[in-house]
Amino acid sequence: MPFSSLGLSPALLRAVSTKAYAAPTPIQTLAIPPVLQGRDVLGSAQTGSGKTLAFALPLLQQLEQSTLYSPRRVLALILVPTRELAAQVGDEIRSLATLLPQAMKVTTVFGGVSINPQMMGLRSGTDIMVATPGRLLDLVDHNALTLSDVKTLVLDEADRLLDLGFAEEIERILALLPAQRQNLFFSATFPQSVQALANTLLRDPVRVDVLPNPQDAPDIQQRAIAVDPSRRTQLLRHLIQDNAWSRVLVFVATKHAAEIVADKLRKADIHAEPFHGVLSQGKRNQVLMDFKASRVTVVIATDLAARGIDIAQLPVVVNYDLPRSAVDYTHRIGRTGRAGESGLAVNFVSAETETHFHLIEKRHGLALPLEHVPGFEPTETEVTPSPGNGGIKGKRPSKKDKLRAAAARGTP
Ligand code: AMP
Repeated sequence: MPFSSLGLSPALLRAVSTKAYAAPTPIQTLAIPPVLQGRDVLGSAQTGSGKTLAFALPLLQQLEQSTLYSPRRVLALILVPTRELAAQVGDEIRSLATLLPQAMKVTTVFGGVSINPQMMGLRSGTDIMVATPGRLLDLVDHNALTLSDVKTLVLDEADRLLDLGFAEEIERILALLPAQRQNLFFSATFPQSVQALANTLLRDPVRVDVLPNPQDAPDIQQRAIAVDPSRRTQLLRHLIQDNAWSRVLVFVATKHAAEIVADKLRKADIHAEPFHGVLSQGKRNQVLMDFKASRVTVVIATDLAARGIDIAQLPVVVNYDLPRSAVDYTHRIGRTGRAGESGLAVNFVSAETETHFHLIEKRHGLALPLEHVPGFEPTETEVTPSPGNGGIKGKRPSKKDKLRAAAARGTP
């Protein structure tokens, strides 16, 4: 089905044609017509499915008719969980908006940078606001904007918003919006909390499910390698050099680990940078730019900082520390295999984390062979909890965990 059959205006079709997309993605095909009709939409779609344009194209079309600025006014509000995602979504929408005959203003705001330029930028209002919840409320508190004219609200990556503890901020924001509005709700996963928020927010929504099927699913090869925690950095270095990996995103559990691993790789002449929440926004932007421009080979990131990183060509993701949950696993490996590229996700598994890894596998219907890399065969078999060994932070083994681990080792 071509873009032209979705009900988009000639101006938008011209704008989209400059992007050279062959056809709309499934979420775009399913979501654009009901959004254009003004319906609420509940969309379940994985990262990389093209959902930004699924809501942005109809939003831009609706705003083609109503772009008279008035002070501090916002017409469409898009809430996203992270600064990086805010920047990406804002850039994607702006690049289309600038191709339209009518001037349309797209504003991106997020925390970690000075609020003053953002306040100045809002003096004449904005058509589309892409925001992280905390900074949006700061701007409201500074009287820099009013949300009483919002016609459309988009919650993007709603599961992430709740995971990151934004429930209260969202509640405050909802109270500032007019009752009469369109709501678009997108999430990759639907745990109870997300479903409950969707239920309170949406009115008679059109449900748009883009279930991953083998054809649409990104082509991501997944591997599990057994390794002792103390040898992970050496193994990582070996894999990078042996496979000549040119761009690798490595996930670790803590900021400290990100610094240490990056430092060790640099000593081995590998261009590596840590990427975590304590770094300034400027530094994080610089690291991302260097990563995209291939000046940095390896980025060592924490979950929180890495959310929303969208790099079209990211061939390898390594779980140096395993993610806490099966949902986090989805988000991490979803960083690779984007935009039709194939990807590789490598998991480092130790004797202590093996049981946890099997739980993640079970949730995803996986049963990966546990590989041994010559020279890095693990020697540890005992489950001896100790901090910083790749275990799951904050999770102490329960009686059940210990029994499972003993069963996995074949000991009583
Ligand atoms: P998203 O899921 O919105 O993060 O989009 C993932 C990537 O897919 C982005 O880099 C988009 O530029 C790209 N994309 C969006 N729509 C299409 C399309 N119809 N065909 C090909 N790529 C697309």
